[in-house]
Amino acid sequence: MKADLVVRNARVVLHDGEFHGGLAVKDGVVVAIGADSALPQGTREIDAKGKVLMPGVIDPHCHLGVKYPFPEDMRTETAAAASGGVTTALLYIRNLKPSYLPFYAERKELGEQNSLIDFGFHFGIQREEHIAEIPEIVAKTGVRSFKCYFGYEPDNPIGIVPATDGWVYAAMRILSKIPNAVINVHCENTQIATWLKTEMKATGRQDLGAYTESRPSFCEVETIRRMIFLAERTGCPLHLVHTSVGMGPVLAAEAQGRGLNVTVETCPHYLTRTCYDSDLDMTAKISPPLRPKEDQDGLWQGILNGSVYSLGTDHVPFFPKKGEDLWNELPGVVSFPWELSLLLHFGVHQRGMSLSRLVELNSYNPARRFGLAPKKGTLRTGADADFILVDLDMEKTVEHTGKGTCIYTGWKLKGWPVLTVSRGTVLMEDGHVDESGFGRGRCVTVPA
Ligand SMILES: [Zn+2]
Repeated sequence: MKADLVVRNARVVLHDGEFHGGLAVKDGVVVAIGADSALPQGTREIDAKGKVLMPGVIDPHCHLGVKYPFPEDMRTETAAAASGGVTTALLYIRNLKPSYLPFYAERKELGEQNSLIDFGFHFGIQREEHIAEIPEIVAKTGVRSFKCYFGYEPDNPIGIVPATDGWVYAAMRILSKIPNAVINVHCENTQIATWLKTEMKATGRQDLGAYTESRPSFCEVETIRRMIFLAERTGCPLHLVHTSVGMGPVLAAEAQGRGLNVTVETCPHYLTRTCYDSDLDMTAKISPPLRPKEDQDGLWQGILNGSVYSLGTDHVPFFPKKGEDLWNELPGVVSFPWELSLLLHFGVHQRGMSLSRLVELNSYNPARRFGLAPKKGTLRTGADADFILVDLDMEKTVEHTGKGTCIYTGWKLKGWPVLTVSRGTVLMEDGHVDESGFGRGRCVTVPA
């Protein structure tokens, strides 16, 4: 058999170990993986020269088409993702109409017409009808992951409808009976944050720290505790998205110890930035906010001790921020192109995190949590040939030319992806993204 693409002479890293060798791809799937001598010949052969070969990054948390048109974001942002080694992106999408079915059909079609990489969806619960529709949504769309949002005041600038405890409880009760279903919660106590915001606004402060202090860490810790309580009552799997507090992984580990299915996601910005960094201003507003140093330390502890389950970027391209008023600024930043490099630099190089642990956080665990395994998230015979080559020693400075706000511009990071392959197709090589593939990406959250 002749393969389409063969990579040899690589340091192959999977979630459970590593070896020297490579893999072979035919028709978009892995047909052999192992020592160089065990691989067939390929139409194209790549000598990795000892670089790291790992599964492509699965970014389970992004928001596309929020301000810019959805088809446009599905091009520009999936190209940015491919440049950073991301081969699958899952979008949290919201719809204010009573049913998700027409919205899903439209987004799936537009995605498959424009996306460079594979993609899928989670649905935001925005009204009561969405809860009743869950069984039908699962049957007809294959999406089993739903999100409830706390922390958004009724007049929030993005138009998110905040959840009630009743919504969460009712959704959990239904999801607990559906195999592999999961509820995602944005944890921040809406009422306390609203109260403190009014107080803080009256002081006239406009610095980034004022935003954080108007919704302090305990607001998030309180809601995490409440959600774990409800997950225990209902038996529903719970995923704590974009966790910014050091107590998050501690509480999840405690819950897991009692046998609960509770997992924690954190994001690169909470691991690398604090709300008091002197070079940041209101344009670094994010929801939940950047936190003080002690929360960052707690999250790194969770990364290193295994109690953080997965990473997500929360990538959201907004129009250029105005920097005029802290309270009206849209919350969110972009990080598809640098998530992996930030983790290589601050995790692997600075803190001694193993590459296998990085693969677990970035690929293996998100695939398991959201029903993409075993086709994605690891590399074995029969799996989708989604992989990257990483140059651990390459040093490069972050430059941002795309949409949205970047909070890392000018940072010199060590460790960069140099090749991104999606189902056997090379999407990025030596920093150059091949944009001829727009529309090749496929929706991966589909009925079983
Ligand atoms: Zn988000």
